[in-house]
Amino acid sequence: MLLTNHVLSGALIGGLIRRPAPAFAVGVASHFVLDAMPHWGKWASQRHFLRVAVPDGLISLATMGAIAVVSPPDRRPAVVAGMAGAALPDLDKPTMLWFGWSPFPAPVDRFHSRIQREAPRRAHIEVLAAGAFAAAALIALRRSRPQPLSRPQPNALSASLPFLAGRAVALAAARPGFGSAGTVATRLPTQAVMMSPLEEKPT
Ligand SMILES: [Zn+2]
Repeated sequence: MLLTNHVLSGALIGGLIRRPAPAFAVGVASHFVLDAMPHWGKWASQRHFLRVAVPDGLISLATMGAIAVVSPPDRRPAVVAGMAGAALPDLDKPTMLWFGWSPFPAPVDRFHSRIQREAPRRAHIEVLAAGAFAAAALIALRRSRPQPLSRPQPNALSASLPFLAGRAVALAAARPGFGSAGTVATRLPTQAVMMSPLEEKPT
């Protein structure tokens, strides 16, 4: 499966499992589960593989960074651990490409390649999986955001300022002396403050 989908599923795992070590372990396990599902692959050539793998690698790195940034700070270690664990088994792709060796023991590499259920023309599966994992991860991270104990109450004076300003203009316009800047400036503040929204209720 595309590395981006492993990263997104790892973010979901980290968002649900709050502790980094279990999130990392489940992330690694999730990699092999997803690779055993039908997915896009069986590239016709190395060139074709790279045309998909290079953008996929770059997008997954950007995704990791973006998800780490938007994660609530108390969940970030578990989310990053989940993404790292889910991406780890594919570390052999860049090391094979650049250095010609895999960092994993041969039995792990054999297992990893044997479980693949790849076929061409399955890009839509990857796109659907990406959408589902991204949505689920964002919901999990949003739900885990700590709720404030109480909403801060807006300051009563600042809340009534627009009302007071409106009253002040109406009062000034109604006064016979309107037009004299001095009258408006000296009388408005007192009258405006004395008028409260409660006094406006019809009696
Ligand atoms: Zn893999």
